[in-house]
Amino acid sequence: MTPLRSELRDFNTMRMQAKCRSVIPVFSEQDVFDVLVQELHPLKIIGGGSNILITKDQDAYILKNEIKGIEIIDEDGDNALVKVGAGENWHLLVLWTISHGLGGIENLALIPGCVGAAPMQNIGAYGVEQESVFHSLQAIDLVEGTTKTFYKEDCKFGYRESIFKNEVKGKYIITHVNYLFSKHPKLNTSYGAINQKLQEKQVDNPTIEDVAHAVIEIRQSKLPDPKIIPNTGSFFKNPVVGIDVLESIKVRFPSVVSYPVDEKMVKIPAAWLIQHAGYKGMRHGDAATHENHALVLVNHGNATGNEMLSFAEIIQNGVEDKFGIRLVPEVNIW
Ligand code: FAD
Ligand code: NAP
Repeated sequence: MTPLRSELRDFNTMRMQAKCRSVIPVFSEQDVFDVLVQELHPLKIIGGGSNILITKDQDAYILKNEIKGIEIIDEDGDNALVKVGAGENWHLLVLWTISHGLGGIENLALIPGCVGAAPMQNIGAYGVEQESVFHSLQAIDLVEGTTKTFYKEDCKFGYRESIFKNEVKGKYIITHVNYLFSKHPKLNTSYGAINQKLQEKQVDNPTIEDVAHAVIEIRQSKLPDPKIIPNTGSFFKNPVVGIDVLESIKVRFPSVVSYPVDEKMVKIPAAWLIQHAGYKGMRHGDAATHENHALVLVNHGNATGNEMLSFAEIIQNGVEDKFGIRLVPEVNIW
């Protein structure tokens, strides 16, 4: 068996230092099948490494998805069905759709990572989730070596959730994702920050390009760039709680922010809870919450995965003590 000799620090945006048996790039489905016949176990998959926290050496062979290609495979007057290699960069796909006049993911501009990871947690931002344009995906079963197509109803998409994060976690490598983009896009500028940015820029009749640029500007002004301060974006999910829970928090904290999910449930921004529990900008060794964004845990240099995790636990306990809500990590803990 190969010793633990490959370093993972350059393969994750939190810049966690850890070893694995080897990192094996795969450029095609055939490359995946070639790896499977070698019976290397266990296998793990990595894309851009922007949604994982590595806490220990990985006793595994890691497939780095490099499967490329963006191709219109079907179209009519209204829509285009586009097949995308799972190793394509997500933001480059967004730019590609805009240059082809195809709408649907302009609000998801500048999200780091690869297309193959987008269905994993059903990436979302500014009121849009990838499931709204998702058609199907192809995956290879890492044990059986068979290919399988998952349609939307198979994926059990939810709020930053899917079947791939739950029931079939680690079972498949996603090789291609098919998206149905619109030739007559309906813009979604309902999130306040987008409208505000468009007004600032005096854009009266926005295009998909205007929306993407507004999103890019907002994100660049708020979020730490992982190349400068290592991070994995939002560390925790925004909790969705019953209205009764919100009402009981409101008694003590009338300024609590919330957004309706349905008649019975509301979403409370985790950033608000962390900030009001006193953790915004707090540093714990080299692990910290970002000074401008309490939900983003950052590595100021040499934090280890376990240090990040114990800092995350301090935040979870503090928020739970104050508000009675246990935050759940959004990142995948390795
Ligand atoms: P990785 O971190 O490499 O992998 C994540 C998980 O998916 C791992 O468990 C991995 O095994 C699995 N996986 C990856 N590729 C495959 C594949 N082909 N087949 C099977 N399993 C696979 N997320 C949002 O939803 N919205 C945002 O707005 C957002 N903003 C962010 C901003 C910043 C600054 C950062 C750092 C992160 C942000 N994220 C956001 C989180 C992250 O970018 C997304 O979750 C992204 O989809 C992760 O892609 P990745 O390729 O880096 O995945
Ligand atoms: P924000 O605009 O400061 O808003 C804080 C939170 O409130 C967000 O998380 C968002 O929930 C919610 N929210 C705001 N306006 C809303 C509305 N009109 N309706 C419903 N919910 C609303 O958020 P931000 O941190 O700067 O992020 C902006 C967007 O990018 C958000 O959608 C966020 O999810 C996404 N983002 C995600 C990550 C990640 O790693 N997952 C990292 C950075 C940014 P939602 O998160 O449910 O949208």
